Amino acid sequence: MKNITIAIDGFSSTGKSTIAKELASKLKYVYVDSGAMYRAVTLYAMQHKLISEERFFKEKLIDELKNINLSFKFNAALGFGEIYLNDVNVETEIRNMNVSRLVSKVAEVPEVRRKLVEQQQQMGKNKCVVMDGRDIGTVVFPDAELKIFMTASAEKRAKRRFNEFMERGEQVTFDETLKNVEYRDHIDTTREDSPLVKAKDAIEIDNSALTRKEQFEKVYKLALEIIGQD
Ligand code: C5P
Repeated sequence: MKNITIAIDGFSSTGKSTIAKELASKLKYVYVDSGAMYRAVTLYAMQHKLISEERFFKEKLIDELKNINLSFKFNAALGFGEIYLNDVNVETEIRNMNVSRLVSKVAEVPEVRRKLVEQQQQMGKNKCVVMDGRDIGTVVFPDAELKIFMTASAEKRAKRRFNEFMERGEQVTFDETLKNVEYRDHIDTTREDSPLVKAKDAIEIDNSALTRKEQFEKVYKLALEIIGQD
């Protein structure tokens, strides 16, 4: 049995985190949601009035980075680690539409990326980790033994995200959700620092027409093939 690192990248709302969580729990690996980290920094910036739709005090946020402490604490009932911002559980708050609107702007800042990538690499240094995000297979763990790149149509992804918002009782329209998904795709793929691209050695899975079970089985089989190697 081999201890490996699994990187799952892809566009927003491709269902990466669902598969990554399931895979980590099946393999008894640690799951890390790197998007939650960018969202938590965004929440901090919002709470400290450093960012809004109209303005972004980027230099101030860079200055404040030393005061931002992110950690994950395992919640046995949920089966994964929830994110804490300066020791406050923000797992639910970071998923709202306001954070979604601003997060890609924050994620463009190289200083933010440097800080978070360093922490992500630290969390994965002993392997046995499944991490999802945008740059995991390209920047965070370029040597990951298994790299998956998930895609699905923007419509399909917006539908998924919209259903999540509805379950939480958020007041958003489908159109707004679709626009947000497309807007984040655009920023994530065109930013200068670590844009979202498929790593050369990543396996692409378009899950537009796959059930959750089918996706999981596909990825689990790929993982077992590598883990089983001597
Ligand atoms: O994965 P999630 O949709 O929660 O990520 C929120 C945002 O954080 C993304 O739209 C992207 O801008 C940013 N992100 C990133 N790099 C990662 C993970 C997320 O830039 N590794």
